Amino acid sequence: AVAQERKIDRVTYSAEIKLHDTGNVAFLGELKKAIAEGELSMHYQPKIDIPTGNIHSVEALMRWNHPEKGNIPPCLFIPRAEQSTLINLLTEFALDEAIKQIVQWRQYDINIPVAVNISINDLLHPGFYNLIANLLDKYGVSGEFLELELTEGVMIIDMEKSNAELMKLKKLNISFSIDDFGTGYSSLQYLHLLPISFIKIDQSFVRRLPSERHGVSIVEATVMLANKMGIKAIAEGVENKESYDFLENIGCDIAQGYLISRPLPADDFTKFYLQCGGRYLPA
Ligand code: C2E
Ligand code: MG
Ligand code: MG
Ligand code: MG
Repeated sequence: AVAQERKIDRVTYSAEIKLHDTGNVAFLGELKKAIAEGELSMHYQPKIDIPTGNIHSVEALMRWNHPEKGNIPPCLFIPRAEQSTLINLLTEFALDEAIKQIVQWRQYDINIPVAVNISINDLLHPGFYNLIANLLDKYGVSGEFLELELTEGVMIIDMEKSNAELMKLKKLNISFSIDDFGTGYSSLQYLHLLPISFIKIDQSFVRRLPSERHGVSIVEATVMLANKMGIKAIAEGVENKESYDFLENIGCDIAQGYLISRPLPADDFTKFYLQCGGRYLPA
C-alpha cells in the first residue's frame, strides 16, 4: 500500500508540473503541427573513414524551419519533446525520412548507411522494433544501411531491457553507436554488455585538439579503449586540419565535423558526394 501511494504521488507530481507548464503545452502543440505542415526536415552530415578517406556514412540531423521564427536548432526543441510522447512522433519522422533517403541515393550509386539519433523513450517503447522493421520492409531497405545513435543514459536506465531490444534490432543487421561518449554516466559496463559497434567521442574533447592537453588524453584513451574492445571510434566536432591529422596519427577510425562538411540538405549532400567521388582527401 505504501509503495502504491508513493507511485500515485509521483504520477500526481509530474502531472501537476505538466499542467502548470502551459507554455510547454503550447510549444508541443506547435511542434506537433510542424510535422503535419512539413516544417521539419532532415539534414545529413558525412562521417569519414580516416584510413581510406571514404565517406563511411551520414548522420541525419533534424531541422525545424518555423514560418515566423525561422530555423529552430534541435537543442531548443528535442529536449522538450523528449519530456513527452511527442519524441516518438519525431523519431518516427526521422526514421521515415532517413530510410526513404537511402532509397533516393541509390539512383546516384550512393550506398552508405544513415545514422538516426534516438531518444530514451524510443528504445524502450513497445512499438519501436515493429516501427523499424515495418519501415525497412516498406521501403525495401536492408538493416545494414541503418545505424542508431543512443546516448549513454538510455542504456543505463534499464540495461536488461535495452539489451533485449538491441539484440532484436541487431538481428535486422542494424548497428548502434554510443553518442556524446564521455559526457554521460561513468559506468563502462554497457560497452561489453551491449552490442555496440561505434563510440562517438563528444565534440567537447575533440574541437580543440591537439592544443588542449586534457582533450588529447581523453581522446587517446578512448580510441585505445575502443580499439581493444573491437569497437570503432568516431570523433565528432572535427573543425580543423590539425585535429584531423592528430586523429589519424592516433588511429581513430572515423571523423565527422565542419572541416569535412556541415550537415546538408539531402540534395546538397548528393552534390557534395558526387563532387568528391565519395572520398574526402584533406588538403
Ligand atoms: P549529436 O547527435 O551529438 O549531433 C552532432 C551535433 O554536432 C549536430 O548538432 C551537428 O550539427 C554538430 N556538429 C557537427 N560537426 C560539428 C563541428 O565540427 N563543430 C561544431 N561546433 N558542431 C558540429 P545539431 O544538428 O544542432 O544537433 C544537436 C543535437 O540534437 C544532436 O547532437 C542530437 O543529440 C539532437 N538531435 C538532432 N537531430 C535529432 C533527431 O532527429 N532525433 C533526436 N532524438 N535527436 C536529434
Ligand atoms: Mg548523434
Ligand atoms: Mg554527439
Ligand atoms: Mg547529442
